[in-house]
Amino acid sequence: MLVINSGSSSVKYQLLDMAEADPADGRGAVRLASGVVERIGEGPGADHAEALRRVAGELDAEGLGPDSPGLAAVGHRVVHGGTRFTEPVLITDEVLAGIEELVPLAPLHNPGNIAGITVSRELRPGLPQVAVFDTAFHATIPEHAARYALDTATADAYGVRRYGFHGTSHAYVSRAAAALLGRDPAEVNAIVLHLGNGASASAVAGGICVETSMGLTPLEGLVMGTRSGDLDPAVVFHLARVAGLDTDAIDTLLNKRSGLLGLCGDNDMREIGRRMAEGDHAARLAFEIYVHRLRKYVGAYTAVLGRVDVIAFTAGVGENSAAVREAATRGLEVLGIEVDPVRNALRGSAPRLVSAGSSRVAVAVIPTDEELEIARQTFELVTGADAGQRGGDGPAARPAPRQESP
Ligand code: ADP
Repeated sequence: MLVINSGSSSVKYQLLDMAEADPADGRGAVRLASGVVERIGEGPGADHAEALRRVAGELDAEGLGPDSPGLAAVGHRVVHGGTRFTEPVLITDEVLAGIEELVPLAPLHNPGNIAGITVSRELRPGLPQVAVFDTAFHATIPEHAARYALDTATADAYGVRRYGFHGTSHAYVSRAAAALLGRDPAEVNAIVLHLGNGASASAVAGGICVETSMGLTPLEGLVMGTRSGDLDPAVVFHLARVAGLDTDAIDTLLNKRSGLLGLCGDNDMREIGRRMAEGDHAARLAFEIYVHRLRKYVGAYTAVLGRVDVIAFTAGVGENSAAVREAATRGLEVLGIEVDPVRNALRGSAPRLVSAGSSRVAVAVIPTDEELEIARQTFELVTGADAGQRGGDGPAARPAPRQESP
């Protein structure tokens, strides 16, 4: 399986041998090659074609290129699937057109994904290409959590609702957290905290996502590297009226110049840690705002789930920052959450528990692996009994949502 994550300015790829992989969780997959082509110029088209050709060239040099007979399928990360694509789908012209129609919902992301798919299809026509959507895992969120309290006709006319993102990671991590506890995912309630440059939380009840912090776009929710996360929507009108900023300027402010970067000038948690150790006040305040938001979400999602079995930290910050994990869970003994300081400080690359033996809720660090999950889902689709039958509409093979699904 070749996995392609074609973004606006980079193309990342991984080639995975799934022959010996466990179909349920991908364990046993072998990573044959990986790489990234960065600094792709503005806009899709020739630049993505050039990047994909370089990827193909690098793979060819190792005898693993697009023409090699062992290559069975390509799995593409696609950011926005809207309400139409709620599971992985074999890419046809019609599916590609459907992904194009979603560009207004994800103008920063879907065009790069589409360019990658288009070029990849040209490199070896006939090779199955599968789209795996960042929104898909969140399609089971019940209507009362997915809808904003907006005028319904307006919301429906313009597709305004919570879609959620990072779904591939939330799916993988919630399942791996259950495995770490030695339990069936169907029995485990989990809060997943995906803390990378972008950051999102999800509440997963028995393997089914019931709430997530990102919304119509990846801007809502937690404090992120450069995104504000939650704020009063009237901030936008206020900035337009009082500061005279137009829509694009506010969009850039909230997405690119806010979050940790806007608060203290750094968006890398390592640098913020260094500055805090030197007594830097702005860095300290940025850290405290970041963890305060996290704690609010842990509390809120505990209420949403009723019973929490595990809180799983993942992605760059979640996997590496003991300080964030410690601060985000401090004082939550009332919720049955106790982190063990010694376990929490240990570094490692494997899934592990950092909670105290007496903690009612397990607290875990679970390294995410979105590429492996995309490869697993792609493999499942192209080797499944019904491969080739699915067109892309409807939640055919998903577990039944508990409530009405979007
Ligand atoms: P992306 O969302 O771009 O995939 P990652 O999941 O790779 O991001 O996370 C990137 C972030 O992880 C960096 O911006 C940095 O803040 C954080 N990070 C990486 N390593 C460490 C570390 N050792 N300690 C604290 N934070 C770290």
